Amino acid sequence: MKIGIVGSGYVGLVSAACFAEKGNDVTLMDIDKGRIAAIHESRLPIYEPGLEEIIRNSRRHLSFTSDISDVASSDIIFIAVGTPDGQNGAINTRHVMEAVDSVGKATERYANKFQVFGIKSTVPPGTTRSASELIRKYRVYDHNFAIVSNPEFLKEGSAIDDFRKPDRVIVGTESESARKLFSELYAPFMRTRERMIFMGIESAELTKLMANTMLAARIALMNEAANLAGRIGADIEEIRMGIGSDPRIGPSFLFPGPGFGGSCLPKDVSGLAEYARKAGVSLSIVDAVGRSNKTQLYWLADTAVDFLKDLRTAKTYVVWGASFKPRTDDIRHSATLYTARRLLEHTAGDVRIYDPQEKALSKMEREFSGNKKIFFYSDIYEVLNGAHALLIATDCDEFKSIDLKEVGDRLGRKVVIDSRNLYNPEFMGELGFDYISLGRPKVLANNKHW
Ligand code: NAD
Repeated sequence: MKIGIVGSGYVGLVSAACFAEKGNDVTLMDIDKGRIAAIHESRLPIYEPGLEEIIRNSRRHLSFTSDISDVASSDIIFIAVGTPDGQNGAINTRHVMEAVDSVGKATERYANKFQVFGIKSTVPPGTTRSASELIRKYRVYDHNFAIVSNPEFLKEGSAIDDFRKPDRVIVGTESESARKLFSELYAPFMRTRERMIFMGIESAELTKLMANTMLAARIALMNEAANLAGRIGADIEEIRMGIGSDPRIGPSFLFPGPGFGGSCLPKDVSGLAEYARKAGVSLSIVDAVGRSNKTQLYWLADTAVDFLKDLRTAKTYVVWGASFKPRTDDIRHSATLYTARRLLEHTAGDVRIYDPQEKALSKMEREFSGNKKIFFYSDIYEVLNGAHALLIATDCDEFKSIDLKEVGDRLGRKVVIDSRNLYNPEFMGELGFDYISLGRPKVLANNKHW
């Protein structure tokens, strides 16, 4: 099949690679010429495990362009452009509509060919239908095109696996021909069992927003449970096991942390709330999830600042983890952004950041460019030298198996504030750390004698 994809971000690049891997001829288009030039030179603009290899192996089925007319003859054209934060938390669909308009114009001369336009970007209900109206302006024959809402559920860090073996593929359409075409396109991804779910267009759009909101709500609830457990001397890890063993609840997405980040969960939660408000429906739980998370994003910094408040010196803080989660370079809305900003407000000393992902670090560096108090390290131990506290923001595997004795030897003060509960509190105490984790009893080896 001939596939066009507009937008070469996490979703566009991964979709292009995985469709090409199955033998489809895929043209990936982006208005950012620099991005396309970099992809041509095999310098991928994003980091996603396994992506480089698939692109290398499927190269003969892939082409990259910044000219929209190159995707115009495709059987299916996907829109996978970004939907950044809009006003009052709404989802900004400007890029989607611009992309749809340029695709509509470019496909005008293919009016005799049946084409399907698929919206992969996460959009509020109604957007796909508006996109259809926009395309209709350019089509001579109404029956010769169809629109599909095909929201994407891949997760950064395991995007290739998610795309190759999706839990489900949601297809919102009113066209029987589009349904057949999508069944054919996704058939190679359904070899073990059928996971296509067909539904109405608005249902598909809302499914995506509700799924992310449900996940966000679980995290927010566990964060609040952790804050309570920490206050009363209970242990959130024990509670997590207790809750997660109920099959109606299940064990995943029950890990408390420093507040959810990334380009999806925060935006989708606020986008859904704002969309509902405009539709005249108040979603009070959804509003509360967003508010709860905004507070949690400062847990790491506020806990560290409070813990060291009696130490009369300019403090140096180290944060391990820059991206919003491991195995990605995406720093959008990462807890580290909030943590670093808050720490910089409070200390006359330095803030140092380490992340195993070079791209994540350089994105963070750009974010704080010009700030003379923040430093970026590519060595996990060196960053610690003489610092007053280590703050753990992500649950990278590298952090889990670190030599804690060396960590203690390098730090000026053996203080670890851990929002991911990576270490055993008892063991940390034995090693002489002051160890504050999230929702677990504090270990105060030094009893704050400074
Ligand atoms: P991104 O920000 O990484 O990339 C978007 C790309 O679109 C950029 O390269 C930009 O240059 C390009 N673009 C913008 N306007 C364009 C236009 N008019 N024509 C051509 N290209 C254009 O985005 P992303 O993270 O891949 O997300 C894309 C969409 O998918 C969003 O709606 C997002 O919410 C959704 N989504 C993202 C993920 C994820 O993990 N990143 C997962 C599921 C769904």
